[in-house]
Amino acid sequence: MRVAVFATKPYDRHYLDAANAAFGHDLVYFEPRLDGATATLAKGCAAVCVFVNDTLDEPVLEELARNGVRLVALRCAGFNNVDFTAAGRLGIDVVRVPAYSPHAVAEFTIGLLLALDRKIHRAWARVRENNFALDGLIGRNLFGRTAGVVGTGQIGRLVARALRLGFSCDVLASDPAPDAGLEDCGVRYVDSAELLAASDIVTLHCPLTPDTRHLIDAAAITRARDGLLIVNTSRGALIDTSALIAGLKSRKLGGVALDVYEQESNLFFEDLSSEIIDDDVFQRLLTFPNVLITGHQAFLTDEALTAIAQTTLASIADAEAGRPLRHRVAPPRTA
Ligand code: NAD
Repeated sequence: MRVAVFATKPYDRHYLDAANAAFGHDLVYFEPRLDGATATLAKGCAAVCVFVNDTLDEPVLEELARNGVRLVALRCAGFNNVDFTAAGRLGIDVVRVPAYSPHAVAEFTIGLLLALDRKIHRAWARVRENNFALDGLIGRNLFGRTAGVVGTGQIGRLVARALRLGFSCDVLASDPAPDAGLEDCGVRYVDSAELLAASDIVTLHCPLTPDTRHLIDAAAITRARDGLLIVNTSRGALIDTSALIAGLKSRKLGGVALDVYEQESNLFFEDLSSEIIDDDVFQRLLTFPNVLITGHQAFLTDEALTAIAQTTLASIADAEAGRPLRHRVAPPRTA
């Protein structure tokens, strides 16, 4: 199948080309993201392959449909950037990669938490300047602290297990679908209000939906324990960034580690080191000594990139052959 592959970096091409040896799709790579201005590039392609910050709203999907596109292949797990009503009406199927490597994201989450809590990022910078002073680097043990895991699907489950079994934290969890295996190892399910009020650490692993948007807002931060650490490797808009900044300024929050950010589509995945950043909210976040930000890289392991490429290209092959799409995202086609 001829596929327009948007938002590609050299590493995407490397892994997709390697996996494509077994499929033989005609992959046409584009560096820009898919949006209203670039959708026309998909002309002549039956599928587009996109990532987390591509735009798949109604006008873009209509343009894709006019150009003959019948399949959107998300090379990620999250699908909050797709207008499924429009896709269904236009007869465009959407597939994703539901589980390329939950370990990649879970391990990165633990890495962020440890770095934030023990100030490893600050220590690294100091030592490079021959500054071996330890003032300001005092952390806390994870042992015995209460960690709240919001969403215990594939990623959150691994994080909860690591915190419970690896670090002997008291682990609270919230999820509309509790995991009995986690309960067996001592994780206690509570509602999200209790989780937020009783945790020293909160880590977010639920999807971004209208219900979970700004799950962490000013009211939640007010109810939280003093010194709360927040880790978000899920989606930026789970957190109201203005409320986060207010919570940091008031010293209510003890620290924040983010791999995702509400307005990341204007920043992440690009080298902007010679540019002036217009996003004052993001720039303010960077000024706090107790904020650690990475640019949406939790997924970035060799294993995950290999799995993403293989699953994505296999879904495209299934679509081409008219086979059932195992990784199709609801809702079902209506037109
Ligand atoms: P998953 O679907 O396996 O698990 C999500 C869990 O959240 C489910 O168990 C679901 O029941 C639960 N949930 C839904 N609404 C909830 C709510 N209101 N409160 C609490 N729990 C709720 O997904 P996953 O594979 O574990 O991925 C989780 C998220 O991580 C994805 O939605 C994606 O946005 C993000 N992600 C980020 C990266 C990265 O590189 N930073 C990579 C992959 C995935």
